[in-house]
Formats: sequence, C-alpha cells, structure tokens
Amino acid sequence: LSERTEQFTDSVIRRMTRVANQYGAINLSQGFPDFDPPDELKAALKKVAEGSVHQYAVTWGAQNFRQALAEKQARFMGIPIDPETQIVVTCGSTEAMMAAMMTVCNPQDKVIVFSPFYENYAADAILSGAEPIYVPLKPPHFHFDANELEAAFAQHPKALILCNPSNPTGKVFSPDELRLIAGLAEKYDSFVIADEVYEHIIYEPYRHTYFAALPGMFERTISCSSLSKTYSITGWRLGYLIAPAYIIERAKKVHDFLTVGAASPLQEAAVTALRFENGYYKQLQKIYEEKRSLFLEGLKRLNLPFTVPQGAYYVMVDVSEFGCTDDLRFCEWLAREVGVAAVPGSAFFREDIRHLIRFHFAKKNETLEAALNRLESIR
Ligand code: GLN
Repeated sequence: LSERTEQFTDSVIRRMTRVANQYGAINLSQGFPDFDPPDELKAALKKVAEGSVHQYAVTWGAQNFRQALAEKQARFMGIPIDPETQIVVTCGSTEAMMAAMMTVCNPQDKVIVFSPFYENYAADAILSGAEPIYVPLKPPHFHFDANELEAAFAQHPKALILCNPSNPTGKVFSPDELRLIAGLAEKYDSFVIADEVYEHIIYEPYRHTYFAALPGMFERTISCSSLSKTYSITGWRLGYLIAPAYIIERAKKVHDFLTVGAASPLQEAAVTALRFENGYYKQLQKIYEEKRSLFLEGLKRLNLPFTVPQGAYYVMVDVSEFGCTDDLRFCEWLAREVGVAAVPGSAFFREDIRHLIRFHFAKKNETLEAALNRLESIR
C-alpha cells in the first residue's frame, strides 16, 4: 500500500464518536448539532425530492446555488464575488481544504499550520505532498509569537492555513494578528488558505474578519467554508472555495477529478438557506451565545478551568488536576465511567500537550444540561 497512507492515524475526533456510541455516552466530541436545520430548509428539501433535480449539476456548482452564495458572501465579506469565476462548490469544507492544498502545493512545499489545529490539515498536507511547519498557539490564551511566525515564513512556505474562528481553541484572531499575518504573507509571497466555517458563530464583543477582505489579500487568499455549521446541515456536505479567478480555474479541475460535484438536489434545496435575511444569522448567534453561557456556567460550577471561546462551539478544558498525563485514556474513562465524550487535546497539538480536552456545545440545551449533570460525578 502507499507510503502516504502509512503515515495516517485514524481521526481521533471520529474515533471518539465511536467510543461515545459504544458506551452510550453523551457525545460532546465530534462537533455537530443534535438539533434540526430550520423548517423552511427541510421543506425545501422535501420539495426538491419530488421535483426533477436529480442528475449532476455543473461540476463547479449549480448556477443558482453559486449565484445565491456569491450574493450572501459578498454581503458578509464586503467584497464583490463573481459566481462564474471565483467559486467552486465542494463536498463540504473538507474537500474545499483538500482541493485548495492540491491547487497550490507541489510535493515538498512547506505550509504553515498553527498548532493546535483541526486534524484534517495534517492529512491534507500528506495527501498533497506538502510539509507542515507548525507555529504554536500557546495555551491558555492561544497567542502566537510574531518572531516564531516570521521564522516559519522565512522558510518560504507556499501557504499558511488559518482556521478563524478557530477549531479547537475557539480563538478569534484579532485584526492586529490578521494584519501581521497579511504583512508576512505579502513579504514572503505566500498564499493564505482560510478555513472560515465558523464565520457566523462568534460571541460578543468579537467580530469575524474575512481574511480575503483585508487590503490586498483577495489575490492571495483561498477562502474555504461550508453550510454545515451555519445552517446545521453537516450531513449535506456542502462547502465551497472562494478565490481569484486564476486560482479557481485550477481548483475547478482538482475538484472535478476528485468528486465531479456536490449533491445537486441538496444544492438546489440549500438555495433557500442562502437567501435567508440577516435576522437568521443574528438568531443563530443568539442560540449559540445561550449554549455557550449554559455550558461555561456549568464548567465554572464544577470548578473546571477552561479558555473562554470567542467563536466556534468548542471549549478546551484543563484536566491536569486529575493527574491527567494521558488525555486519550482520560477521555476513554470519561466516556465509559461518566458517560460524556470529549476529544483528547493531543489530537490537535503538535507539541506534547496532554492536559487539555475539547468539548463542543452544539447540542440542545437539555443535552448540555444532562452532560453537566453527569460531569458532576467527577467532583
Ligand atoms: N469539525 C467538527 C469537529 O472538529 C467535525 C469534524 C468532522 O468529523 N468532520 O469535531
């Protein structure tokens, strides 16, 4: 078998879901909602099922989907987006990130990855032949050191991967941090591959800054995102890349040969969501604000130290007081004996850090309350 696949370990995030199922634990590991998408969207899907959109769409995305997406993203990003030349619709942001890497990287090219990072980036690097340079985001505040970042850029990476708002830390990169990254990307002529799937899940007073919208950055940014988190439809697998035409022209081919296209009936139904008014996004923020408060208040009552997430729906909890030196075993114990599943932090860190675990709170309030009740037994 290929040397490439030999380097893979299986995804710890997905493994923890299997562990949760095995022990009947409440699954706060793999991040996805246990609540339904808006009724209007479900109704749209039902209508599509009865209609006649059941064959391939245009490989880079159905025209009406791209049109609606371009309008919605232009509204939020504050820059014009051409649905014909600047968008590729993919099978989730997972494919978008992979296609972005394959579009810009040659084997042995370097890519900067902040650590901790979302597991897939290491696999994306292996599959595209690139070599990651890790720059630490140091707990508990997850700041990076500007000199360390510049030292990484000095190795002339092809790209930097930026997950903002960040999984697993909940960090929202500040405008100053983003300007610093932009300056270095310009100075060392690197691309920025921005994973912005949590663009609409952000907590007051923080604001999301689209990297592509920073002065001069559109030309070197590949923005990857998806509908999964914004409309609670992780199973629909609808994602996309937005980039300048000269990049998209290549990305269209990578995507075509990888998957031909995202499911056409689902694209058709999702147009309904892309046309939601601003009120929908305000409501989404309110729902997550409430979930965050509920869960963080519970962690405080349990006296568990954590880093307050500024965006996304994850929280990193410090479990060192339990004598935890092996977070994987701790999470297995937690799922088996306490009945709550979390992801061991080491799944995200390049450095040897084993005292953090990640919970997600994209769950019904009653699910979060039940998980907190179970967690009381560890005290
Ligand atoms: N993004 C989610 C997480 O980090 C789910 C990832 C996945 O399994 N596709 O948990």
